[in-house]
Amino acid sequence: MKTAALRQAFLDYFKKQGHEVVPTSSLVPADDPTLLFTNAGMNQFKDVFLGREQRNYTRATSSQRCVRAGGKHNDLENVGYTARHHTFFEMLGNFSFGDYFKREAIGYAWEFLTSPDWLGIAADRLWVTVYESDDEAFGIWEKEIGVPAERIIRIGDKGGAYASDNFWQMGDTGPCGPCSEIFYDHGPDVAGGPPGSPEEDGDRYIEIWNVVFMQFNRTADGEMQPLPKPSVDTGMGLERITAVLQGVHSNYEIDLFQDLLEAASRLLGGVATSEASLRVIADHIRSCAFLIADGVMPSNEGRGFVLRRIIRRAARHGNKLGATGPFFHKLVGALVELMGEAYPELIKSQAQIERILLQEEEQFAKTLDKGLRLLEQDIAALQGSEIPGKTIFTLYDTYGFPVDLTNDIARERGLALDYDGYEKEMEAQRDRARASSKFGLDYNAGLSLSGATEFTGYDSIDGHETVQVVLVD
Ligand code: ATP
Ligand code: MG
Ligand code: MG
Ligand code: MG
Repeated sequence: MKTAALRQAFLDYFKKQGHEVVPTSSLVPADDPTLLFTNAGMNQFKDVFLGREQRNYTRATSSQRCVRAGGKHNDLENVGYTARHHTFFEMLGNFSFGDYFKREAIGYAWEFLTSPDWLGIAADRLWVTVYESDDEAFGIWEKEIGVPAERIIRIGDKGGAYASDNFWQMGDTGPCGPCSEIFYDHGPDVAGGPPGSPEEDGDRYIEIWNVVFMQFNRTADGEMQPLPKPSVDTGMGLERITAVLQGVHSNYEIDLFQDLLEAASRLLGGVATSEASLRVIADHIRSCAFLIADGVMPSNEGRGFVLRRIIRRAARHGNKLGATGPFFHKLVGALVELMGEAYPELIKSQAQIERILLQEEEQFAKTLDKGLRLLEQDIAALQGSEIPGKTIFTLYDTYGFPVDLTNDIARERGLALDYDGYEKEMEAQRDRARASSKFGLDYNAGLSLSGATEFTGYDSIDGHETVQVVLVD
């Protein structure tokens, strides 16, 4: 089953169960300053969950374009390292706004996955997790669905022993609740352990579907208010479920990515499609193209800076594979061919996307080589395993290397970054800027954080908080 057919099958199934098929919303959230980019299918229904907005349906389904490259759900650093994370992906979802709850939500998910009329996945390859104290969900899985108790794992909040958590929240505030997740076992050829085990971060047991029992609204002061009505929000990664159906162990081996990787390989002189850097490029073209189509422009702050970071990261990986000039923009055509039918806005914006990417590539090409050379010199002279703050700062300030780009290179060498040293350099630069201002200008007085595509919150790079701002004259 091809990616596009799977997307359609999902929507058809839930339509049959009385769900309204709702189109995907933009990657730039409408009126939600708490959110960097749309990161889940439920985002566009946030106010419906909160009871602030009424719709003429209580069940909905969608295939939502998502970007997780900053903010609460940030997978930028995972891309190229895991078989299952993208910056851009599509989330298939079904939603109940005070209509059905746990029993039906679990029943639908199971039927769609395992029924021979739908996906027909072998039940013994599936594992499930429930929130540690959720005996109700455990009971439904065990008694009503028939999943053996050994394959139902109880998992608590983040900060427990292992990486996963079974309490879903879209951000620091907003709708949230305990969840139950479905995992697929890709078999013993792949490294990794079941959910809740120390090896769970491998790619053997892959989380395919998260069924969230929306029950609370977390407010800015941390209070958990009950929602007007218990609701359901689910999310399944289209690329992950496609990999399962196509019998491959990595999202990058599904039809859509293979075609994209082959196009990228042709542009870069035939490098192997299994090359990690090529995968990064194939991933990044999707987020960059869709972000531009949704009106984000590369810039030095907020959403635009995230876009710029992704483009520069792609350019650096191309350089690593031997690209001698701009290449990234040439991938847009292949992407439009693959995804234009499902997303006509991509076809409409093709020329604009190509132009903006080319411009960014040309601009960065001027400093990329020099910056890389400087970094190589500093790494060669390095004592210890940490790249000094001064180097990170110079790369950022003079050569336009976003910090995560330097980190990407450092990680390939098993090196870390001296973030504190970098912060000190940044602070010193701010002091210099203040001192040189002949009016003794209050630095903060000139900060602008307004505008449609600018993010006003914090962004985290490797747990390192930064806030991006722009100075206006
Ligand atoms: P993981 O633990 O693998 O990082 P998650 O728990 O962060 O996933 P959810 O927030 O529960 O993911 O999102 C719902 C579903 O969306 C996941 O079950 C998965 O199928 C898919 N998904 C999440 N993040 C990504 C990503 N970066 N790339 C592709 N698919 C994703
Ligand atoms: Mg995640
Ligand atoms: Mg997870
Ligand atoms: Mg999850």
